[in-house]
Amino acid sequence: MKGHVTLVGAGPGDPGLLTVKGRQALEKADVVVYDRLVGEEILELIPSEAERIDVGKQSSHHPVPQWQINEILLEKAKEGKNVVRLKGGDCFLFGRGGEELELLAQNGIDFAVIPGVTSALAVPAYAGIPVTHRDFTSSVHVITGHAKAGSALNIDFDALVRHKGTLVFLMSVASTPVILDGLMQAGMSADMPAAMIERGTLPEQRKLVANVGTLAQKMREAGISSPAILIVGSVCSLSNDFDWFDRLPLHGVKVVVTRPKQRAGTLTERLRKLGADVISYPCIETKTIWPNMPVVEALASIDQYHWLILTSPTGVDVLVQLLDAAEMDMRNLAHMKIAVIGAGTAKKLKEHGLRADYVPAVYDSVHLAEGLIRLVQEGERVLMLRAEIGTPELPELLAQACILFDDVPVYQTYYYNERSEELADMLAHGAIDYVTFTSASTVRGFVESLPENTNLTSFTALCIGPSTEKVAKAAGMHTITAANATIDAMLTTLQEEIKNESD
Ligand code: SAH
Repeated sequence: MKGHVTLVGAGPGDPGLLTVKGRQALEKADVVVYDRLVGEEILELIPSEAERIDVGKQSSHHPVPQWQINEILLEKAKEGKNVVRLKGGDCFLFGRGGEELELLAQNGIDFAVIPGVTSALAVPAYAGIPVTHRDFTSSVHVITGHAKAGSALNIDFDALVRHKGTLVFLMSVASTPVILDGLMQAGMSADMPAAMIERGTLPEQRKLVANVGTLAQKMREAGISSPAILIVGSVCSLSNDFDWFDRLPLHGVKVVVTRPKQRAGTLTERLRKLGADVISYPCIETKTIWPNMPVVEALASIDQYHWLILTSPTGVDVLVQLLDAAEMDMRNLAHMKIAVIGAGTAKKLKEHGLRADYVPAVYDSVHLAEGLIRLVQEGERVLMLRAEIGTPELPELLAQACILFDDVPVYQTYYYNERSEELADMLAHGAIDYVTFTSASTVRGFVESLPENTNLTSFTALCIGPSTEKVAKAAGMHTITAANATIDAMLTTLQEEIKNESD
C-alpha cells in the first residue's frame, strides 16, 4: 500500500473547533504525529491501535527538531502508513507545515492539507474581539513576536503603524514589552487599546484588556504565560461589549464528571457549553457476569415471569447480550410487562424498540418498589436483572409485600480510574468546585477509586436524587441535589447554586 500524509490543523484548543474533515482524517490514521498544543480530547479520537508520536515543542527548547519530524513523516509514509500530522491551530500559519511538505514532495509522497481554525482569529473571537470592523479598521496583520535564535526581533513597526490595521502577535509573551515600545516609538498612541489573551478558547482562558502604554505592566502583574496572543487595535475596545465566553454561566467552574465513559457524553457536552471546565473521571466499569447459571435458568423459564425489572441502562444492554447468547430475542419478552427505574433506562429500552410499562414519578428504587407493589397482581412473578451490588431497598420492600421475585445479578461493577492520584491531589488543593454523581454507585465508585484519606470535603457533590445524595452525605461530602432525577434538573440546580454564590 502507498503511504499518505495529511497535515491537520487541530484548532486553537476548544476540542469543538476541530474541523469535520480533520476528525475524519484522525479516525482513519495509522500513525499520528502531534504537537504540544493539541488537547487531550482531540488525541482521544485517535484509534487505539494507531501509533502516537509526541513531538511536542516547548518554547525555547525543541525536544524533536524540525528536520527529524520531517524524517519521521517520510519514513512512516514509506512504510505505507496513513500518517496524520496534527498541529495546533492552522497548519500553515506559523505552523511550519510548508517545511514538512518539502521533503515529502521531493520524495513523491502523496499528501493533503486540512486547514485548522487558527488561534490568530479564534482567540480574539472568544474574547469578544472582531479583528476587523467597518467602523474601526479594514485590515488585520498576523505577526510573529518570536525572534530567530540569537537575533533581535525584526519587525517593521513604522509600516505596521502606517497601515492602521488590527495587529495580532503570536508567540509574543516574552517580547510584548519590546513590541509595545516599538509601536509607540513608531508613533502609535499610548492610548491605543490592546489585549492579551492566555489559553484562549479553553475553559481557563484569561483576558487582559488595556492599552499600548499599560498592557506590559498588567501582563507582568497577572503573570501571563504561553500560549497567549497580543492584539493591538481599536477593535479591542469592543471586548467588553462583545464578550460572550467569559460570561457563560459556568465559566471558571471546575466540574468532575464521574459517569462511565459511554454515558458521559451529554452531561459533559452540556456542562462545557455552559462554560464549565470539565474533567472526565469515569470510575465505574461494568462487566457482564458470564457464565451465569441463574440467568440461563431464568431465561429458559421466561414464560413463568409476568414482570421484568431493569434498574439501569447498563442492565438493558446486558439483557440484549444475554438474550442473544441464549439464542433468544426481544420477542421472547412479549408476554411480560416491563418496569424501569427512570427515564434513562426507559430511553435505552426504547432504542431497542420496547416501551416501559411503568416508570415511577420519582426515579429511585423505593418509588419503583411502591409502584410495583400496587401493580403486580397476586400470583404474578417478577424477574429483576440487576448489578451484583444493587441497592437492597428494592428486594426488601418487594419481599415485605409478599411479591414473588427472582433477583438475578447480571453484571459486576469495578471502581477504577488510572488518574486517581492526580485527582486526589487536585481535591487536596481545593482545585475542584463540583463533582457530579448520577447514581449512588457513581459515588461509591468515586470514593473507592481514590486513595484512602482523600479529602472529600473540598468540593460540592451535585447529586441526581435523594438516594445518591444519601450515599454522598454518608461519605462526608457537602451536597446539592437536583429537584428531579434528570440531567436537566442537575444543570439547573448547579446554575442556581452558582448564581446564589455570586449574588
Ligand atoms: N499554527 C498555530 C500557531 C502556532 S504558533 C495557529 O494557527 O494557531 C504558537 C502560538 O500560537 C502561541 O505562541 C500563541 O501565540 C498562539 N496560540 C496558540 N493557541 C493559543 C491559545 N489557545 N490561546 C492563545 N494563543 C494561542
